[in-house]
Amino acid sequence: MNINEALIKAYDILKSSDIESYIIDAQLLLCRVLNVEKLYIIMNRSEILTLDKEQEFFKLINLRSCKKPMAYILGQVEFMGINFFVEEGVLIPRPDTEILVEECISIIKKNNISLICDMCCGSGDIGISIGHYVENSKVWLYDISDIALNVTKKNISNLNLGEKTNVNKSDLFQLPIKEGLKFNMIVSNPPYIKEEVIPTLMGDVKDYEPHLALSGGQDGLDFYRRICKEGKEVLSSDGYLCFEIGHDQEMEVKSIMKTEGFSDIYSLRDLGGNHRVVIGKLP
Ligand code: GLN
Repeated sequence: MNINEALIKAYDILKSSDIESYIIDAQLLLCRVLNVEKLYIIMNRSEILTLDKEQEFFKLINLRSCKKPMAYILGQVEFMGINFFVEEGVLIPRPDTEILVEECISIIKKNNISLICDMCCGSGDIGISIGHYVENSKVWLYDISDIALNVTKKNISNLNLGEKTNVNKSDLFQLPIKEGLKFNMIVSNPPYIKEEVIPTLMGDVKDYEPHLALSGGQDGLDFYRRICKEGKEVLSSDGYLCFEIGHDQEMEVKSIMKTEGFSDIYSLRDLGGNHRVVIGKLP
């Protein structure tokens, strides 16, 4: 089989599994197997694949046709212009979350603050991006999942950010409260999907991404309530609390923050026009 024939067969397999991005997915998987850039497979259509490479390629195509997300198959995803390592067991970073990170970075620079906490860090994408882009920042990243902590540590070491970061296991703020830490900013993209909605999510998400990182309890708001309450104990005065939220949670999250005493609360929309970020300040 040559490159062209392999791609056409792969397109058919993915198309019949309703993978909308079948062309780019097949091309990226072939690039991975051959260890080449995309231009190479476009320019060398008639190159014959060895049997090994052909088999390896169709193994990956079969994983994708079972809806396994590309990020897990490739073991990487781009976020904030940075290549993050990911594996099953951590949430895959989403472009929508970049809105939250960009706003955090702008607040940090404007107010010249430096002690940042990324709560429920998952792959570490949020806290690591902040550490990468903000000079003199110090970031504490927490998660309850051992897989998440290991993935975060790997990303930190890949990006040489060991001196600017601390990674620890904690059930929300249990550890930083115990240690008496104070942060200038807490940022979190906590699990926020309503339990009953999870079975209706697309196969890529519900069958592969960790339930622990998705479920926000019955009404999806469990973590906002706990993070607002516990977070106050480790936030310095004038400190910022910055959340990613579900598209229909703006009013509820704002009201939880208000009840807990936060002020100057505002929201931002994502590229799809949905409310995606809520930010408030501790007076
Ligand atoms: N902070 C990570 C992210 O935004 C993980 C979030 C989570 O596991 N809920 O991708």
